[in-house]
Amino acid sequence: MTHDVIIIGGGIIGLATGRALLQQRPELDLAILEKESSVGQHQSGRNSGVLHSGLYYQPGSLKAGLCVRGAEMMVEFCREHNVPFTRDGKLVVAQAGAETGRLDELERRGNANGLNGLRRVGAAELREIEPHAAGTDALFVPSTGAVDFASVARTLAAELIKSGARISLRAGVDEASLEGGRWRIRHSSGAADSRVVVNCAGLYSDRIARLMGVTPPVRIVPFRGEYLTTRVEARHYVRSSIYPVPDPELPFLGVHLTRRTDGTVEAGPNAVLAMAREGYGWSTFQPWELWDALSYKGTWRLARSHWRSAVHEVSRSVVKRLFVRAVQRLVPELIGSDFVGRHTGVRAQALTPEGNLVDDFVVISDGQTVHVLNAPSPGATAALAIGESLADRVLALIPPRSR
Ligand SMILES: Cc1cc2nc3c(=O)[nH]c(=O)nc-3n(C[C@H](O)[C@H](O)[C@H](O)COP(=O)(O)OP(=O)(O)OC[C@H]3O[C@@H](n4cnc5c(N)ncnc54)[C@H](O)[C@@H]3O)c2cc1C
Repeated sequence: MTHDVIIIGGGIIGLATGRALLQQRPELDLAILEKESSVGQHQSGRNSGVLHSGLYYQPGSLKAGLCVRGAEMMVEFCREHNVPFTRDGKLVVAQAGAETGRLDELERRGNANGLNGLRRVGAAELREIEPHAAGTDALFVPSTGAVDFASVARTLAAELIKSGARISLRAGVDEASLEGGRWRIRHSSGAADSRVVVNCAGLYSDRIARLMGVTPPVRIVPFRGEYLTTRVEARHYVRSSIYPVPDPELPFLGVHLTRRTDGTVEAGPNAVLAMAREGYGWSTFQPWELWDALSYKGTWRLARSHWRSAVHEVSRSVVKRLFVRAVQRLVPELIGSDFVGRHTGVRAQALTPEGNLVDDFVVISDGQTVHVLNAPSPGATAALAIGESLADRVLALIPPRSR
């Protein structure tokens, strides 16, 4: 049987794309192929759980537009499906003069991106909002919140199945060929044919693109983010979210403190090069994947320009005291013994051959295929809006016969 659309990857973006397709065209024959035994096991289930507001992104970028729209869609989705979320706002705190200047730029971007209620607060009001936070000046962002994105992914999957989509688990795609105008996709549990294929494979999206004959303009480099979780008695130090002013040279937001929807408080994530695409610990090592990253000239160019922050990040990863010190810049009262748990996620970060970490989302179409080649944070927040825009691209490719 030939499907109208196959989506490779059952993360939040693949699932959201399926939802948008069936909302617009309920009669479509849609299949999702996921290599794991359940959906949302990688980036979508291993992130900070922050509902981003759209503060940081270059006005006019895909990230800015899709994050602002996606956040509203996500809140509506959570309300409709009883998925836990909060919307208590966050503080971005400046510690020194230079950081205050960078807060001005963030405020300008936030206003240009249409954020409501953004406001600067001085040291006194800062402590009214977050009594234990340290800083000279801050930006209060009321539309930031927290969402359980793993739960969103599971809910999307259940909704898709109800709408007639087929979700095949343990179906890792390893071969693709164009036969008689249709894509034949071979995977670990069999094979399937489709008119159009959407690649939402996250950490493996560049590999899937290559399987389908597309030379991606970027390479995925896996950056692990590590989190420390506080003990219950230390949760009161953080009411919602406390962020540092980010380094404008890097697309990562810096180690921050976040209260999740279940009340847990955690610090993180840092950013270290992972030894495997799904390398969640220092001991997970895939020689070919590491070679893939190290043989890419972009990796060396990036290392040359950012070696200081790389050394700093690795030290914070292996020496807990240094990690805690970064957290203490935000909340000085937190001490090492307040942190009792640890977990990690790996970002699928696109890197150009020139060594630039790509900031914006990257989506390309080629023939009867669409590829998501960079969807880092705020990809989970923006997922429902990204799904809508991918569905528009896909529907433009469906031959009239099946329309
Ligand atoms: C540490 C960290 C913190 C983050 N924090 C936030 C945050 O606070 N807020 C926010 O909005 N965003 C955040 N993000 C970003 C967000 O998690 C991602 O943008 C989003 O989850 C991307 O979804 P995805 O579906 O593209 O990728 P994934 O969730 O990684 O899904 C890709 C899927 O493809 C599958 N797959 C891969 N290869 C194959 C194959 N060959 N065959 C079949 N299936 C395959 C994988 O198993 C996986 O399920 C964070 C990400 C990380 C890693």
